[in-house]
Amino acid sequence: MTLSAQDKAVLINSIRDIHDFPKPGIVFKDITTLLSNKDAYALLMKHLHKRYSTYNLTHVAGIDARGFIFGAALAQMLGVGFVPIRKKGKLPYTTVSEKYALEYGVDEVEVHIDAFSNVGNPKVLLIDDLIATGGTAFAAASLINKVGAHCIEACFIMGLDFLSGQTKLSEVVPVYTVIGVD
Ligand code: AMP
Repeated sequence: MTLSAQDKAVLINSIRDIHDFPKPGIVFKDITTLLSNKDAYALLMKHLHKRYSTYNLTHVAGIDARGFIFGAALAQMLGVGFVPIRKKGKLPYTTVSEKYALEYGVDEVEVHIDAFSNVGNPKVLLIDDLIATGGTAFAAASLINKVGAHCIEACFIMGLDFLSGQTKLSEVVPVYTVIGVD
């Protein structure tokens, strides 16, 4: 289930482009203007709820930090648990971690070792606001599988179509992007 062109346009028009943030040459996709627009936010969340209501999920896992906003709201709508996948050093209990390459250097994401163990056969939707190179999401999907859960799909509000992140990630997990960005 995907959005109509008209609904996609509402979402696209609600997202603000910030040029040269956080550094020259980057067009930052600012979702704060989508969140503060009650109609656009509701349209998006209703769509995600409808799409995922038939997936028999047990959890939604959100990537630090914008994935928490959409993920936590969606988990409540679906009546399932929410699990945060955080940047290194933020989670208080025993964690499992995964490194991933950045343009310069490496970064690391973590999840609690028992994050999904409150149910048998955990089925997880991974969510973030945007997929660019796919490095962050690839590491997050690996973490979900490492701690014994099944990552059913990875969902992004936006996908940067000019980068190969979606293609790379879809080799390990089905990928759904609500809106493609040229
Ligand atoms: P990547 O690992 O390259 O797929 O980068 C994805 C992460 O970086 C996500 O958590 C995004 O929120 C953030 N990100 C990367 N590029 C942008 C962009 N142009 N605008 C907004 N967020 C971005």
